[in-house]
Amino acid sequence: MKFVDEFRSRDYSRLLVEKLQNRSGDKINIMEVCGTHTMAIFRYGIRDVLPANVTLISGPGCPVCVTPQSYIDTALDLSSREDVILATFGDMMKVPGRKSSLLKKKAEGSDIRLVYSPMDCLTIAADNPTKKIVFLAVGFETTAPMTAVTAIEAREKGLSNLFFFTAHKIVPPVMEALVTDKELNLDGFLLPGNVSAIIGTEPYEFLSKDFNIPGVVTGFEPVDILQGLYTLISLIGKKDYSIANDYKRIVRTSGNSEAKEYMNKAFNVVDSNWRGIGKVPKSGLEFNCDFEEFDALKHFKISYEEYDGSSGCRCGEILKGKINPTQCPLFKQACTPENPIGSCMVSSEGTCAAYFRYYK
Ligand code: SF4
Repeated sequence: MKFVDEFRSRDYSRLLVEKLQNRSGDKINIMEVCGTHTMAIFRYGIRDVLPANVTLISGPGCPVCVTPQSYIDTALDLSSREDVILATFGDMMKVPGRKSSLLKKKAEGSDIRLVYSPMDCLTIAADNPTKKIVFLAVGFETTAPMTAVTAIEAREKGLSNLFFFTAHKIVPPVMEALVTDKELNLDGFLLPGNVSAIIGTEPYEFLSKDFNIPGVVTGFEPVDILQGLYTLISLIGKKDYSIANDYKRIVRTSGNSEAKEYMNKAFNVVDSNWRGIGKVPKSGLEFNCDFEEFDALKHFKISYEEYDGSSGCRCGEILKGKINPTQCPLFKQACTPENPIGSCMVSSEGTCAAYFRYYK
């Protein structure tokens, strides 16, 4: 299959591994920002073939993982209402709140529906006119445009019973919070191909201009990741602090203008709380005044105090790249994918879930 098979080629991969292994030298810390990269890096055994001087650090690029526990608890409260049907992506179901999870709530009788796209909520809303449908709008720039499009469609269809509990987040501002953290000592970023398909490469330019840190946008197949790492390690070696794009078949410098237009139409950029990281300026999206009729918190007149973290869980440090999951005493003991204590063990993009599945 074109654009797939060649990026899974054994021959290309072997060639890139050889080139990478000739790149040993000074110690290099690279953060892969995106949870999909973390999972793919483990799945393809890429950590095992890197030169010993290169350390890969997993970052905060899993939207479910970075959503604070207070959001989950508020979603649980909403799911308890008789007049509400809650709609969510599957990854949110097992995330523990303080007292329960959406999975347990569903088993107890709450009407919680799994959806593959926010657009599915249009049908649920049309089929259930006496109910209020609340979609848990969690995700980065990759998913936020679809939330905006769904709200626009709902308005066009005259649906007044669809609401969104938004926790959309923007990736570049949290990277700024990480590079200013002296403890991390990052030399470069492997940048997310999916988010970059929407925002382009321009929003990362601050990394090179203000912090002398290079980055490479790349995709998710083994050749993509190996090529991205090779480019990045070469840039670091040359002290070239550019932002490179190794995913040109998908990502343009200025991104996807239509998707950005939808986001700009529906949302304001606001400060947002990230699990373990705290409040990051201008890192979230909430409906602007033209779209506030869709805001579930405003509709139900809910305000809630923000907090995060389950007892003993070290997701916060993992999301900041300060420790890896094997350094959490609960890893593979009390905390497993079947019985997750923190969000990083729940999500298919979570670092703890990746280590549980692949780390030997
Ligand atoms: Fe939290 Fe479990 Fe990961 Fe430990 S292993 S940090 S408890 S999610």
